[in-house]
Amino acid sequence: MLHIGCHESSSKGYVAMGKEALQLNANTFAFFTRNPRGGTAKPINPTDTAEFCAMAKKHNFAKIIAHAPYTLNPCAAKPKLREFALNTLLDDISRLEYTPGNYYNLHPGSHVGQGADIGIELTSEMLAAVITKCEKSSTVILIETMAGKGSEIGRTFEEISAILDKTEKKYAKSLSDTLGVCLDTCHIWDGGYDIVNDLDGVLAQFDKVVGLSRLKAVHLNDSMNPLNSHKDRHAKIGEGEIGLETLVKVINHPKLRDLPFILETPNEHDGYKQEIELLRSHFVDS
Ligand code: FE
Ligand code: FE
Ligand code: ZN
Repeated sequence: MLHIGCHESSSKGYVAMGKEALQLNANTFAFFTRNPRGGTAKPINPTDTAEFCAMAKKHNFAKIIAHAPYTLNPCAAKPKLREFALNTLLDDISRLEYTPGNYYNLHPGSHVGQGADIGIELTSEMLAAVITKCEKSSTVILIETMAGKGSEIGRTFEEISAILDKTEKKYAKSLSDTLGVCLDTCHIWDGGYDIVNDLDGVLAQFDKVVGLSRLKAVHLNDSMNPLNSHKDRHAKIGEGEIGLETLVKVINHPKLRDLPFILETPNEHDGYKQEIELLRSHFVDS
């Protein structure tokens, strides 16, 4: 069974997102916990979240993936901005307990001229602080592989691995059930990993450097730009430089096929519906 969905608007609540997913023939979805640019989150309606949990169970949804706002930078240079990031993460994670056992996806951040090493240090410090404060949380945090635009950290598998390892060291306990990775196909392609010509090789490298057991979800996107462009502009499935053939290999790959796949392609309702149908038609049930 292919677990696939797309980004949905959270403005009308969880049941509305669940219904939208069903209309799209999706069985998972992603959403921003609040306005992508930050700001305060809408209050949780416990009736809505409870109804959604029942709905997700009834329809066999895979885990859903909440996305932190883009503006949140865990390795910002200014302490005030890091404090904002910390408070937002803590608030989001406590709210996600209304829909327990799902994923929370965040960008590892931009080092803004401090250098990648300091960026990695600050982000792992923040993650360790969040995990310590949310020890009872059932939400698994996923850091996303990035395209490397501007001063983004997390472009290379080595940087992703360093963030995970340093967080684990600072926390002083194994985080195998608490912290993982979300792989974005557009980002790794733009970041220089040639999944078109050597998907197996890229995944072997990921396994060696990060560990495939840490990979929990995939953002399935085509890219408007060539390999190693560091641009991060998503294209519709089959309309970019990665192409349909490779993305079909991704969803069918034995190491990936059981993970939830999220489309973050430039689409509205109908476009997502078509992409989900297209990908389902290319998924080989085993
Ligand atoms: Fe993202
Ligand atoms: Fe993404
Ligand atoms: Zn992106």
